[in-house]
Amino acid sequence: MGSYLTLDDVDVAGQRVLVRADLNVPISGGSVADDFRIRASIPTITRLREAGATVVACSHLGRPKDREPGFRMDPVAVRLAELGGFAVRKIDEVVGEDVEAAVAAAGPGDVLLLENTRFEPGEKNNDPDLAKGLAALADVFVLDAFGSAHRAHASTVGVTEYLLSVAGPLLVQEVEALGSLLADPPHPFTVVLGGAKASDKLGVIKSLLPKVDMMLIGGGMCFTLLEAEGYEIGTSLVEQDRLDEVGEVLRSEYGDRIVLPEDIVIADQFTADAMREVVPRIAIPDDWMGLDIGPLTADVFAAAIRGSQAVFWNGPMGVFEWERFRTGTEVVARALTNHPGFTVVGGGDSVAALRLFGLEGEVSHLSTGGGAGLEMLEGKTLPGLAALERWVG
Ligand code: ADP
Ligand code: MG
Repeated sequence: MGSYLTLDDVDVAGQRVLVRADLNVPISGGSVADDFRIRASIPTITRLREAGATVVACSHLGRPKDREPGFRMDPVAVRLAELGGFAVRKIDEVVGEDVEAAVAAAGPGDVLLLENTRFEPGEKNNDPDLAKGLAALADVFVLDAFGSAHRAHASTVGVTEYLLSVAGPLLVQEVEALGSLLADPPHPFTVVLGGAKASDKLGVIKSLLPKVDMMLIGGGMCFTLLEAEGYEIGTSLVEQDRLDEVGEVLRSEYGDRIVLPEDIVIADQFTADAMREVVPRIAIPDDWMGLDIGPLTADVFAAAIRGSQAVFWNGPMGVFEWERFRTGTEVVARALTNHPGFTVVGGGDSVAALRLFGLEGEVSHLSTGGGAGLEMLEGKTLPGLAALERWVG
């Protein structure tokens, strides 16, 4: 997992602390549509304020082409202040003299939020000048953005070359939760995978299969596996170019740990009000598509989850955005309630589903990072974590 310093190793009283948080939230109509990541970032900022630091927070937001106004951090600053119960001074630039002056004018306990780091062209290509500009704003750097730790950008990796850098508490929590599943999970260990694409999750399937007792697969991705097993899947989502690879995984040493749906909720078209039927997996008609796991499968998955000591879930079981195709995801989510074991849920849509059902408080760990979490579970080293190692020892 690599090693890193944490906030326990530095005294931040009277120091200027640059926090790279993950405040990348959906914005709609000029305000924050889902504040999960903002909430998750607050304990770190509060801890720094209470320790007497001047907090300079930054994050990217979305995928702006250049300085598109819709990607400004202002709505994030508003929500951060509301939820955190402290004032947040929004700065309209990422680096430069004006930003430095604003930081110099701030004092212990103050919180500043920089503009979207991706407004700077140097962010994504990890430009040293941008990294130096960020480093000039602070005495200590705290990487707390787990969701961005798999990207070597100026605000995640570049800045660590110029500033004493430590892992933030949220990052540590994420890394420890996922790391314990990778290293030494309690058994039975069940992984539940769903979501749109098999290709997104093939790496994780391969890396986790030797470690799990069962891997339950639903969602759009299960149809690529079902087709590779020889089933007729109608017009369900399928990735033809992955059939060979998926087939190899299914026939591999641990392939029989994969559990595929026995029954499927099918629809005559891809709409919220489509006709809905439940069929066994051998009976999907040519012009129908699978949009959820069936009730029998949902019960089998739920029982397996309840009987496990550790569960990792990534990817909804169906098109949970539409009520008709939500049940499978909800049954699986409810199996995590009152669960005595170690339960981890990751992935933007899976976390959104859990929140939709009001169950976000029911799991041991809700991961803020989708792609970063998957990369970590694939056994890859996250560049952000690797970069923190230079300050150890
Ligand atoms: P996460 O963000 O949790 O990692 P993904 O992004 O991989 O999950 O997948 C989520 C999306 O998968 C959802 O928008 C959902 O509607 C879609 N999905 C799930 N099951 C199906 C299906 N059977 N057919 C088409 N899309 C599906
Ligand atoms: Mg997603």
